Amino acid sequence: MALYVYKFGGTSVGTVERIKAVAEKVKKAHEMGNQIVVVVSAMSGETNRLIGLAKEMQAQPIERELDVLISTGEQVTMALLSMALHEIGCNACSYTGGQVKILTDSSYTKARIRQIDDARIHTDLAQGKVVVVAGFQGIDEHDNITTLGRGGSDTTAVALAAALKADECLIFTDVDGVYTTDPRVEPRARRLDRITFEEMLEMASLGSKVLQIRSVEFAGKYNVALRVLSSFTEGCGTLITYEESPMESALISGIAFNRDEAKLTITGVPDLPGVAFTILGPIANANIEVDMIIQNIAEDATTDFTFTVHRNDYQRAKSILEQTCADLGARKVTGDDAIVKVSIVGVGMRSHAGIASTMFKTLATEGINIRMISTSEIKISVVVDEKYLELAVRALHAAFKLDQASTSV
Ligand code: ADP
Ligand code: ASP
Ligand code: MG
Repeated sequence: MALYVYKFGGTSVGTVERIKAVAEKVKKAHEMGNQIVVVVSAMSGETNRLIGLAKEMQAQPIERELDVLISTGEQVTMALLSMALHEIGCNACSYTGGQVKILTDSSYTKARIRQIDDARIHTDLAQGKVVVVAGFQGIDEHDNITTLGRGGSDTTAVALAAALKADECLIFTDVDGVYTTDPRVEPRARRLDRITFEEMLEMASLGSKVLQIRSVEFAGKYNVALRVLSSFTEGCGTLITYEESPMESALISGIAFNRDEAKLTITGVPDLPGVAFTILGPIANANIEVDMIIQNIAEDATTDFTFTVHRNDYQRAKSILEQTCADLGARKVTGDDAIVKVSIVGVGMRSHAGIASTMFKTLATEGINIRMISTSEIKISVVVDEKYLELAVRALHAAFKLDQASTSV
C-alpha cells in the first residue's frame, strides 16, 4: 500500500465543480488501495481578496491578524472538499494546520515549519479515511495562527510528505509540469520530464512560481519524491530528481524571471574600508533583503554602488539610502523600479564555456541593454528594463533551443 500526498492549487479548486472533480480524482486513487493525504489551497483569487479587505482596514495590516484572516481561505476549501468526498461515498476528514498540528515559528506571513505531529493523520489513514489538510498555515508555540508565505501550500504538502514518509508528493496545478520557462510568456516553452533538484531550486529562487522555494528546499533536505502535474489533464508531469541524467545533454534547462525587482545606486561614495557596510547595514536593519550588489572600481577616490531590492521595498530603501548619502557626503542616489531579472539555469553550464557569451550576444542582437549581471555555478542572471522581459525570455529560449528536445548551442 502506497501513501501519497496530493496538493491542489487555487485554480484546481477554484469552483464547486472543480472541487467535485478533485474529489473524484482522490476517490479513484484511494479506491486503488492507496492512502491519500490531500493538501488544498484557497479557491483562486481568495487570498488576494482577503489581503485586499485587510488593506481597506489598515494600510499596513497587523501581521498576526492578517494571518488569522488569510488562513481562512484554505479552511473553506478543505471543508468543501471533505464534503464532496463524503457525497461520493469516500470517508474523509479535514484539519486546519493548527489541528494537525503543524508547528511553526512565530514569523507571521512567512513562518517556517518546525515540526509536524503525524499521529492524528496516521490514525485516520489507518481507519481508511482520506485526510484533507489546509495548506499554507500552521500554529506557533503560543497557539497563534501563522501562514507560510505566498504559494506556501506547496511547502505544507512537501513537509507533510516528509513527516509521513510518503512514497511521493504530487503537486497538481494548472500546468502539466515544469516548463523550460513560464508558458504564459513563451508559448513555445516545453515541458520537462525531469529536472534536477538543484536546477528547480535555482528556478524557484529566481522567480519561477510554479513551486514555492521552501517546498523545494524541504524536498531536498528530506529526500521527498516530488512531481508537478496537471489537475486538469492526465499525464506524468515533471519529476524533480536528485541525480543528473548522463543521457540528457542540456546545457540550459530553463529560463526564470522575476518582475518584482528594483535597483538603487549611490554615486560618489568615498572609497574607504567599511563603506559597503555603512550603505547596506541600515537597509538590513530595516529588514529589507538585498539581492544583487555591484561596486565599481574606484576612480578619483570615490566609487559607485548599486544593489537590487524587492519592488515593494523600493521606496523605503530609497529614503534610507538618501539619509546614508547625506551622512557619507556621497554625490547622489538614483533608482529604477521598472526593471526585471532574467536568468538562465542549467547544471550543464558547469562543464561548458561560452554560455554567457551566447546569452549576451542574443540580448545585444535584440538591442536589449544589460544593466547588471550576476553569475553562479549553474545560473547567469541579468537585469534589464521591464519592457524587454518578454523579448528577452523568448530570444534566449530560441537561442538555447529550449523548444527542442535535445539542446545544444
Ligand atoms: P497553483 O495555484 O496551483 O499553486 P501557481 O500559479 O502557483 O499554481 O503555479 C503555476 C503557474 O506557474 C503556471 O500557471 C505558470 O504560469 C507559472 N510558471 C512559472 N514558471 C513556470 C515554469 N517554468 N513551468 C511551469 N509553470 C511556470
Ligand atoms: N493561498 C495561498 C496563496 O495564494 C497559498 C497557496 O496557494 O499556496 O499564496
Ligand atoms: Mg502556487
